[in-house]
Amino acid sequence: MFKFKNVYIYKNATDYPVAQKIHSYCKENNIECEITNRATSEETEGFKAYAQAKRTLWITVKKIGKFQTCKPSADYQLTLVSGCVGMCEYCYLSTRSGIRPVVKVYANVDEILQKAKDISTENTVFEMSASSDPVPLEPLTGVLSKAVEFFAQNDNMRLRIATKFTDIDSILNIDHKNHTEIRYSINTEHIIKTFEHSTPTLDERLSAVSKLKNAGYSVGFIIAPVILYDGWQKDYENMLKNTAKSIPNGEYTFEIISHRFTTTAKNNILNIFPQTTLDMNEEGRKFKFGQFGYGKFVYEKEHLAQMKEFFKNNIEKYFENAKILYII
Ligand code: SF4
Repeated sequence: MFKFKNVYIYKNATDYPVAQKIHSYCKENNIECEITNRATSEETEGFKAYAQAKRTLWITVKKIGKFQTCKPSADYQLTLVSGCVGMCEYCYLSTRSGIRPVVKVYANVDEILQKAKDISTENTVFEMSASSDPVPLEPLTGVLSKAVEFFAQNDNMRLRIATKFTDIDSILNIDHKNHTEIRYSINTEHIIKTFEHSTPTLDERLSAVSKLKNAGYSVGFIIAPVILYDGWQKDYENMLKNTAKSIPNGEYTFEIISHRFTTTAKNNILNIFPQTTLDMNEEGRKFKFGQFGYGKFVYEKEHLAQMKEFFKNNIEKYFENAKILYII
């Protein structure tokens, strides 16, 4: 299980079961845990600040306002946790969470789930990973299994989770009623080794995929970010071939997202990883406005077209029963 170095529980969160569970865990495991009115992070810069934040957990109460939309993956974002213990250089959270991305757990899980239920109509889809990877926190919080159970009991609601992590044992025996779909983020060995620090290997992710598939879950893959480096076709084809060989037969969905970056993300990434080899050269990219109101640099049209054709052909070649949801 991932070990945090510092844990802060806000005073207004202390009565919630999640906060109490985390508090007891910290006591038993000699992890510094402070009850506070105002959590702070040390005024350090660059990688040191980033690494420290990734090992700092805040347990707080979320003000429940309007749920944010989450296209194309779901109708709404479901934020029970935010931040992530992984250290991927390209992380999509870099635009929003800045250079000190502490991990947060929202203690009022039941209220948030209830509000989600109130706005659900028919097959309303919620994405739990829009601002986090909730899976590595599961042994500590139990929030993931709570959400899967809640969605199982509500016919109008569907849950989607995206992850690279493997702490999924707590949900294997839940009668999930097929209301939850889990997608594994996979990439080439080269990208995982170069950019996805502190995350499980591809083999470990595929072993979790097999367990979930055998437990009857709908499972899919997110191939993201697709980076068009020298030799990308060979590496991505090998990855697809090996993936197909390592998992049980059955239906799998695919969501494929080409690499893109915002100017804010680029500045944050260069601050944290000054030696990064991640290609963030604006030349050769196209500027495009996104749904969250800020612009991003995406690959040029002809490169995207080539990428789309490649994945369409190779997924058809290696997977008997695959459904490509989108390639962007
Ligand atoms: Fe970001 Fe996902 Fe990597 Fe976590 S695992 S750092 S959320 S890209």
